[in-house]
Formats: sequence, structure tokens, C-alpha cells
Amino acid sequence: MCPFDAIRGNVTSRQAAEYYGLKIGRNGMACCPFHNDRHPSMKVDNRFHCFGCGADGDAIDFVARYFNLSLKDAAIKLCTDFGIAYDTGHYVPPARAKPAKTDAQIFKEFEYYCYRVLSRYLRVLRQWEREYEPRDADAEWHPYFCEALKEISHIEYLLDTLMYGDISDRASLITDYGKKVKQVERRLKLINPGNNGDDN
Ligand SMILES: [Zn+2]
Repeated sequence: MCPFDAIRGNVTSRQAAEYYGLKIGRNGMACCPFHNDRHPSMKVDNRFHCFGCGADGDAIDFVARYFNLSLKDAAIKLCTDFGIAYDTGHYVPPARAKPAKTDAQIFKEFEYYCYRVLSRYLRVLRQWEREYEPRDADAEWHPYFCEALKEISHIEYLLDTLMYGDISDRASLITDYGKKVKQVERRLKLINPGNNGDDN
């Protein structure tokens, strides 16, 4: 099977984009990597389409453009990274082999995990800010309201860094806050055990 046919029907644009580190929201929207996009305007599903710059195509087109490769090299890269066998004579990975995770991929997955947990925490904090707002001036402040006041702008800053920071900012954030993110996740589970956070 040629590398194009091996990819078509096996790897969606979304799978490819996520594998190479694009952050895709619950609604399937991502910041377009092909123009200067601060707010998600690219829909990523089986194919991708950017409502900002018009970039459009399938997984192979995405990878070709993302890594500046020919379509054929993009198809070969996808086959290699997704462990899909194809015939050209140079590379046939063992059937069904899963690609080994690289350090970069492990980093990206942890980064994405931090992003998910912190976004959820921010939603909870904003809810507390509304629900536990003191009703009158003499009322004692609820601890959740205090926490919301203390943490909201900090968590917003961390999310902003994860979304728009350069690699060194993101790496140091993960080093400094990785542990805290895990604690936050455990705490959110205790507060709201029914919600595992994968509310996509
Ligand atoms: Zn675009």
C-alpha cells in the first residue's frame, strides 16, 4: 500500500494535529498554526479548516504544511510516527507497533494535562466567586470565595502561559507547578467526584 492510501482512512487531521502538539478545544477548535491566530479559528476533525486564513485539507496536508514537507514526505512521516506499514522499500515497521513515546511527546501530554486541570480549576473558582460572594458587609467570607479571589488571576496567568508562552516558559511552568497541578486534580475529584474532568 502506498503511504497516501495507508494514511487515508487511518489517521484523521485531529489525530495528527494532536500528536504533533496542537491544542484542540472541546469544541474541536484550535488556534491555527498557519497564521497569527490568538483565538481558535481552525476546526480540526477528519479534515481541518481555518476560518481565518482558509487553510484546509486532510491529515497529510496538515503535516506537509506544519513541517514544511512535500505531500509524499508528510505521508511517510505520518506512517512512521503512527506505526503504519506501507510499501516503498525503505521502512516497514512491525504490524501494529505503537510508536514509542519521545520525551517531547511525554512533555506535550503532561502539558496538555496541566492545561485541562487548570482550566477546570478556573471554571470552579469562577463559580465559587459567584456562588459564595458574601451577601452583606458583615458576613464572614466563605473559604471558597477567598480562594477564588486569591487564585483566579494566577491561574489565568498560568493558562495564558501554557497557551501562548514559548517552550522555555512552558517548561519552567511545568517544572514549578506540575506537583501543584496534580494536587489540584486530586482536590477537584474530592470536591466533585462525579466529574472526571473529561467533559469533552
Ligand atoms: Zn489560519
